[in-house]
Amino acid sequence: MSCSSSSGSEEDEEAMDWYRKGGYHAVRVGDQFAGGRYIAQRKLGWGQFSTVWLAYDTRTSDFVALKIQKSAAQFAEAALHEIEVLSAIANGDPSNSKYVVRLVDHFKHNGPNGQHLCMVLEFLGDSILGLIRYNRYEGLRLNKVRELCKCILIGLDYLHRELGIIHSDLKPENILLISTIDPTKDPVRSGLTPVLEKPEGNPNGGVTTSTIEKKLKRRARRAVAKISERRASMGGAAKSGRNLDGIDMRCKVVDFGNACWADKPFSEEIQTRQYRAPEVVLQAGYSFPVDMWSFACTAFELATGDMLFCPKGGQGFSEDEDHLALMMELLGKMPRKIAIGGARSKDYFDRHGDLKRIRRLKFWPLDRLLVDKYKFSENDARELAEFLCPLFDFAPEKRPTAQQCLQHPWLNLRNSTQDGMKDEANLKNVDVGMSNLQIKVGK
Ligand code: ATP
Ligand code: MG
Repeated sequence: MSCSSSSGSEEDEEAMDWYRKGGYHAVRVGDQFAGGRYIAQRKLGWGQFSTVWLAYDTRTSDFVALKIQKSAAQFAEAALHEIEVLSAIANGDPSNSKYVVRLVDHFKHNGPNGQHLCMVLEFLGDSILGLIRYNRYEGLRLNKVRELCKCILIGLDYLHRELGIIHSDLKPENILLISTIDPTKDPVRSGLTPVLEKPEGNPNGGVTTSTIEKKLKRRARRAVAKISERRASMGGAAKSGRNLDGIDMRCKVVDFGNACWADKPFSEEIQTRQYRAPEVVLQAGYSFPVDMWSFACTAFELATGDMLFCPKGGQGFSEDEDHLALMMELLGKMPRKIAIGGARSKDYFDRHGDLKRIRRLKFWPLDRLLVDKYKFSENDARELAEFLCPLFDFAPEKRPTAQQCLQHPWLNLRNSTQDGMKDEANLKNVDVGMSNLQIKVGK
């Protein structure tokens, strides 16, 4: 039914063969951009389209994230589109209070591999996929899930209702915490002194011994973590998440490379597989509700540590058909009208609205899944399922909007059973003490 959360690339580093004409721009610590205004400090991450660097803004004395796009025409075009969307987002939210990443500036940079469009974004922390990993793929406490969900919903409500923008690729990797999990990684909290000039004696720039060492150390750490994880699961030892208290749970929606205006959708195939809505699989047209589907998948992943839908192609059936089967096992049969209503419907459904190649479905509704597999209390499972199930309506127009979700009582529940359980456990201890006492007294 579900699988470990691992959306996003598992690769450590961007492919080096993309450092060529039309590809990435090689950056070295201390490199200057935009006529010396921004100075590269260290690499933060990378994607298929860009590398992202922590940079120091000499004009404002702030640290920023500098996204440097690959230079070939199709990447430049994508960046122009992203800049257009990010500019609309920034213009509509002057007080920067809508939980969507802020574009600070943009410019072009000429380098040996061509001309690169660059975006300057506010500096943010780890992605919530990183948070799930940090928590060892255990579900987060529901109060933490609620805090994260509120921010995402405020962001979505702003994008949908005020701007008419569909994100089209919402997933844990594209939601960043406002602050880093590790305070030493935050340039401001750690009091980082910015590098203002290129470090001397380092003709190779980026590829230094220390980066190679760092890479090796990281690999070693990961290998050790994998071994201990395997041991824990073999020994049947209970996995345990970490204490996340002290980590700021506010987050922002990022990565608008695939976003579009609802009245101008430009691609049939949108969204990352596991977060893809049924109307996209069936090519039945789409609008804002696709983001609400992805949001619900993301909320489930936060609460359990597992991706909800992880379809795989098999003998005689495709990944798409498996995906539709998984959806129906969780949510019940898709209404016939919807099943046969998309451009791709005939590939998967017969005229009765049954899947052609996957016949026997094992129904496992969400609240039962939460109790049976994830050991939620009946109460927590029912409450979370009541919040999520309407978002998983096969009829997109019936899914609640972000604005409606923000009104849902689940978001404002305070004493969840999870936290109550702690109190209960404490009470039990007291009970044990009391009964011992009574026995003694009785003797
Ligand atoms: P994709 O392949 O996902 O389309 P992309 O090239 O469009 O990638 P992003 O996903 O925007 O690039 O960014 C790549 C990585 O850079 C992110 O996963 C994240 O680690 C880091 N990053 C991006 N924006 C920020 C930011 N504002 N603050 C801190 N880190 C960031
Ligand atoms: Mg991304």
